[in-house]
Amino acid sequence: MLSHMPLSEFSLIDQYFRRSQLRDDVQCGIGDDAAILRVPPHTDLVAAIDTLVAGVHFPAGTAPADIGYKAMMVNLSDLAAMGAEPAWATLALTLPESEPDWLTAFSEGFFAGASSCNVALVGGDTTRGPLTITVQVQGFVPEGRAIRRSGAQAGDRLFVTGSLGDAGLGLMYATGQRRDQDDAVQQVLRRLNRPEARISAGLAMRGLASAAIDISDGLLGDLQHILDASDCGATVWMDDLPRSSAFSALVRPDEASWYDLPLSAGDDFELLISVPEAREADFVATMQQTGVAVTAIGHIEAHPGLRCIARDGVRYRPLVSGYQHFS
Ligand SMILES: [Mg+2]
Repeated sequence: MLSHMPLSEFSLIDQYFRRSQLRDDVQCGIGDDAAILRVPPHTDLVAAIDTLVAGVHFPAGTAPADIGYKAMMVNLSDLAAMGAEPAWATLALTLPESEPDWLTAFSEGFFAGASSCNVALVGGDTTRGPLTITVQVQGFVPEGRAIRRSGAQAGDRLFVTGSLGDAGLGLMYATGQRRDQDDAVQQVLRRLNRPEARISAGLAMRGLASAAIDISDGLLGDLQHILDASDCGATVWMDDLPRSSAFSALVRPDEASWYDLPLSAGDDFELLISVPEAREADFVATMQQTGVAVTAIGHIEAHPGLRCIARDGVRYRPLVSGYQHFS
């Protein structure tokens, strides 16, 4: 019978994951049976968890520092989508073997992501098995101010932060489906391996957005989650999708990927935000002050369903709806 086989848990966590505490709301972090954390008054605690499995969520050859960084960021992205301010994290690490070089690089990437968002690791657990990383994060919002998927209403405008399709394009290079010699390739690989959670945009949309989600599985798939939760439909103007200069340098507009990747590829971790018409000008001005680019890509409608329309009126039918994870 297979049993739980600890990987000398205490020394591993102590050696690689115990860092000096950067938050004074951590009453007790790593080193006891459980962490003791002080939640500020009049605050809702927002929690998210995500698991990355080698060969499913990232190619098996991914650099350990990138895996650590991404494991943290995909979780922080979920907090960003709720309008939450990140605070704490716990880590469950399943490893085939205890390899010092791998653990050193992984923890460096992990803490680079954590400290960039002022997040303290307050607990950890290690087990032997196929490489799997589970991170849970907690953050705060003022009572009742979290943004949900369910608040979108007909007439709301749909915005996305940043640009779409880079991570999906990066994955095509990482897996050898595309080959090019160009600096832009490094840029899209970085979007794949070192995503940035849109924390500041998440905080700035409080009080302005009616609904939001982070784009982890592809724009259309994640928009559908908002539509399901809000019981409405939407039109996306596919000529308005924001693409990075790296993307535009690598993909020609007559390639299927020009539309497929921004609409359906995952892992960009941008925010998709619906904003009531009356708050649109405020929203745009606030995002400008925050330094986050936002692009209007469509609107919410009462009529159910998701329509993707080009300016010439042609409707787009995606090859796949929702992101197929790497495997
Ligand atoms: Mg999410």
